[in-house]
Amino acid sequence: MKEEVLNYFRNLLVLQRRRLHSSAFRTVSEMKKEEGQLSDPLDRAVVELDRQMELSIRGRERSDLQDIYQALIRIERGSFGVCDLCGMPISEQRLMARPTTLLCVECQQRQESISVRMNRWAFRDGQRTSSESFGD
Ligand SMILES: [Zn+2]
Repeated sequence: MKEEVLNYFRNLLVLQRRRLHSSAFRTVSEMKKEEGQLSDPLDRAVVELDRQMELSIRGRERSDLQDIYQALIRIERGSFGVCDLCGMPISEQRLMARPTTLLCVECQQRQESISVRMNRWAFRDGQRTSSESFGD
């Protein structure tokens, strides 16, 4: 990949990282402020629910951050834009849409069809084992 293209993606990822950092910080301070103002138990319950949702969003943000760090490391190592599975270059179009991707379109689609099948199996398996172990 050309140096200027790499630079473009490096800047993009650094920008995304900064945005995620500041939104995570804002969420924590907003939660603290809201909590201090509420005395009604129902309001507090609603805030608690909001907080649960915020936390799950922040969990996603955290994993997004990890993906971004890894992409930046790949840029430094020179393996950015190379498919993790087949070793072929990932199209720049795909990288534009999702700079943290590890797989080319073909491998991604193959993985998705495998994981859908695995989920189906795991679900069926889980039902069977739980009825066996908890049935009385
Ligand atoms: Zn591939």
